[in-house]
Amino acid sequence: MHANRSLYVKSPWQFEMRDNPVGEPGPGQLLVEIKASAVCGTDVAIADRLANDWQSFGHEVAGRVRAVGPGVERFRPFDLVAVDSSAPCGRCPICLPQPFGRGRPDLCRTVASYGGSATRGFGELLLTPHECAVPVPDDLPYETACLVEPLGVSLDLVRTAEVGTADDVLVIGGGPLGLGAVALSRMLGAKQVLLAELSHCAARLKAAEAFGVDGLILTDRTPLREYDFGDRKPTKTLVTAPPPMLPEAIAISSFGGVVAFIGIAFGPASTISFDADQFHFNKLQLRASHASPGTHAAEAIRLLTLHPEWGDVLVSHKVPMNRVGETMLQMRESKSSFVKIVGVNES
Ligand SMILES: [Zn+2]
Ligand SMILES: [Zn+2]
Repeated sequence: MHANRSLYVKSPWQFEMRDNPVGEPGPGQLLVEIKASAVCGTDVAIADRLANDWQSFGHEVAGRVRAVGPGVERFRPFDLVAVDSSAPCGRCPICLPQPFGRGRPDLCRTVASYGGSATRGFGELLLTPHECAVPVPDDLPYETACLVEPLGVSLDLVRTAEVGTADDVLVIGGGPLGLGAVALSRMLGAKQVLLAELSHCAARLKAAEAFGVDGLILTDRTPLREYDFGDRKPTKTLVTAPPPMLPEAIAISSFGGVVAFIGIAFGPASTISFDADQFHFNKLQLRASHASPGTHAAEAIRLLTLHPEWGDVLVSHKVPMNRVGETMLQMRESKSSFVKIVGVNES
């Protein structure tokens, strides 16, 4: 067995470092020494209300391979890797390319994932299927490489919306996923990129400016429906906010616009209503983005390697792994200085 300590969580907001020894990697598995692990909105929901019993958590990971299981040929010990939370199997009738299958690995239902493992991101060691891992260049810092999963989610969002050079983009919600969408929309050459966020989220607003956003809409001061877009209503509206923002997005999108959505209510707020006549007559499209299984990890690492400054913009708090819980509590108290927390194991 390999000695390991993992951060455990139980709702509401209880944290504990526990011994969590790990066995040797089985067939197709990697044992990864975790170097950096980032806090996601899902982790906040887990701490707040989803963890009915003590559990390990964390799913945005970068580290170094310690051991490989039988049959793994892609990696060797000491390789640097980033680990996505899931990956398509590559073999089922949904994954296999036409004419053998449907050619849609993004829709695979027999995914590889470390979700069933007792080891998760906030710890020292992670046991994971090798399919979830992608190689990381030597010079990319771990705390940037661990953003592979959230950047993959943002990539899925801009792809789902088909953001391009003709677009006026509005991103609703300036968390790490929305900020990633701002950076990617800018990179894809969108004509205009606006961000809607609350005025007290100072660090998020500053990050958006670092990513070259064209304008900020402070929705606590100017509700979206009252904002004057002039003749540049959003052709692509990217919603990284809870479902109640969807009717707003539909109301302000331009004729022929696309609304792409990532946002989980984890409860009754998932039911919304909107003006379907307006939706119809404005020829709008509503598209769900859900990057599970993850299919963008290699591309996300490539982009982070080309733009390592994105990591500096997104990671506002880098703390020792055993302080992730208390730092999440600080973020709950006041969001203003936070964008993304990353826990690191120094050595
Ligand atoms: Zn995440
Ligand atoms: Zn598959």
